[in-house]
Amino acid sequence: EACQAKMHGWSNMSKEDRDQFFLDRQNILVPELMKSLSAGQQCRIPNPIQTFQQAFHDYPDLMRGFHRQGFTEPTPIQCMAWPILMAGLDFIGIAQTGTGKTLAFLLPGFVHLEGQTKPRNQRRGPTVLILSPTRELATQIQTECERFSYHGIRCVCVYGGADRRTQLKKLEEGCDVVVATPGRLNDLLDSGKIS
Ligand code: AMP
Repeated sequence: EACQAKMHGWSNMSKEDRDQFFLDRQNILVPELMKSLSAGQQCRIPNPIQTFQQAFHDYPDLMRGFHRQGFTEPTPIQCMAWPILMAGLDFIGIAQTGTGKTLAFLLPGFVHLEGQTKPRNQRRGPTVLILSPTRELATQIQTECERFSYHGIRCVCVYGGADRRTQLKKLEEGCDVVVATPGRLNDLLDSGKIS
């Protein structure tokens, strides 16, 4: 369930300004996938944001997180990902390693997690699932999640080739975000250890 997070001052950008903005940021491409919607359906791709403030004005603890980390501006993929994800729309983001993809997905994930209408104790299993093809990437994502720790959100990493019992114990202690490789996740699902 995606909540409609609030955004500030990003929507009034002309098409020309937007094209220039994309060009200046490693030539961001935004394919008009929305054209595949059937006639009559309307879904405009939001304009990119340019500052942390525009995306997270209402989330001062996230703003403090940027400050703490010494970040000065959103990376190109964050500029485009945040307005889309904060509006609760689906997003596929393709960018090289080291371009800030993890936080592009993770921070709106934190906001949606907190915005769930169903109380935590009535929700089964973790709320956010992050799938990773490799153990290395999974642990990197978890590190990023912990470094940007937000409101006590708990993140557990599960992957093959490591002690299953230790991972299970961590899951049982409580988990909001699970970062998983597919094999270990399947194994935990099949054995009913995770929902
Ligand atoms: P990633 O591409 O997600 O692996 O991120 C690469 C590194 O960039 C990580 O250490 C992040 O903490 C860092 N990072 C993410 N977003 C920003 C940003 N807006 N400004 C500076 N560094 C960032």
